Amino acid sequence: MTTLDDLPLRPELRGERPYGAPQLDVPVRLNTNENSHPLPPQVLTALTEAITATLSSLNRYPDRDAVALRTDLAAYLSATTGVPLTYEAVWAANGSNEVQQQLLQAFGGPGRSALGFTPTYSMYPLLARGTGTRWISGPRRTDFELDPVVTAAAVAEYQPDVVFLCSPNNPTGTALDLAVVEAVLEVAPGMVVVDEAYAEFARPGTRSVLHLLEGHPRLVVTRTMSKAFGFAGGRVGYLAADPAVVQALQLVRLPYHLSALTQAAARAVLAHADVLLATVEEIKQQRDRIVAALTDEGLTVAPSDANFVFFGTFPDQRAVWSALLERGVLIRDVGVPGWLRVTAGTPEETDAFLAAIRAVCADGRALRPTMVAEVRS
Ligand SMILES: *Cc1c(COP(=O)(O)O)cnc(C)c1O
Repeated sequence: MTTLDDLPLRPELRGERPYGAPQLDVPVRLNTNENSHPLPPQVLTALTEAITATLSSLNRYPDRDAVALRTDLAAYLSATTGVPLTYEAVWAANGSNEVQQQLLQAFGGPGRSALGFTPTYSMYPLLARGTGTRWISGPRRTDFELDPVVTAAAVAEYQPDVVFLCSPNNPTGTALDLAVVEAVLEVAPGMVVVDEAYAEFARPGTRSVLHLLEGHPRLVVTRTMSKAFGFAGGRVGYLAADPAVVQALQLVRLPYHLSALTQAAARAVLAHADVLLATVEEIKQQRDRIVAALTDEGLTVAPSDANFVFFGTFPDQRAVWSALLERGVLIRDVGVPGWLRVTAGTPEETDAFLAAIRAVCADGRALRPTMVAEVRS
């Protein structure tokens, strides 16, 4: 049998594993921050009509530049943040992961580097690896926040071609103070990418980094329809930036990368933004309920502006993760010693998760130290 070792694979890919959040068949799945609410019936009707209308022209390539979709996305961002944007400043692809990959294709690559602040989104180093970009891991405070002075100093020291900031940060949940982004922009020699995948879930008073776009042509804000819009299966992510950044990405994107079906479906969903954002409010209530309940349980909980909660600390978080799975609740162990992440979903899912975690804490067996010692001090 042929194995990977028999193939002339790039050396940096040898021994590596593919991205892999477990896709297990359990009753309560709260491990990938999806929106637990299926699209409502009126959105499904609009989707069916929009897709049907494209079918007679599927023999033709789609609009390469997805102008109608980008126009709708620009209007959505402007309406929800008050920042005026036109389609020239917006770009879309198959998920924000593809947008970020295109950014590295254009601004990273062999001989170049990208800097992120761990723990953060596990896809950044993988995208760097795939594009031949050197990945550098920078420091985060023990409360997982980014300090403006320390963060800017890391950027000044490493001189990365691309900086990845994630706000709210996955897996920790907290949004960035705009002062951190401003401090980084002051010293960054290259592009500064702020991933706002969870921006719609922010607590009141949290401002979007879109407010800093004006006057910062090297700032990029990425967003996605995978979380707030409940459209993870549709695969649509996008960015807002100076129009010159969009022109740069048009040099590296595959022609016709967004199918006609995807473009039509995304526009139909976007036309119902108000209905979908109503479920975001329900999810935020569940998020706050989880934060309060876990705090009552005596656990440490990171403040969350997202649709998930990061909590701990456990002597062996893997044991707690397994004990929850035995009770039919799948959450995420992102590999930060002592900590686990749970997605906020429906009220019933919150009930099931809270009952399971209380049972695990009451039982106590999974809480006993089985590892050497707690890594965080
Ligand atoms: C879920 C997530 C995304 C979304 O990726 P898509 O490719 O748009 O589905 C992007 N960034 C972060 C930090 C995420 O957690």
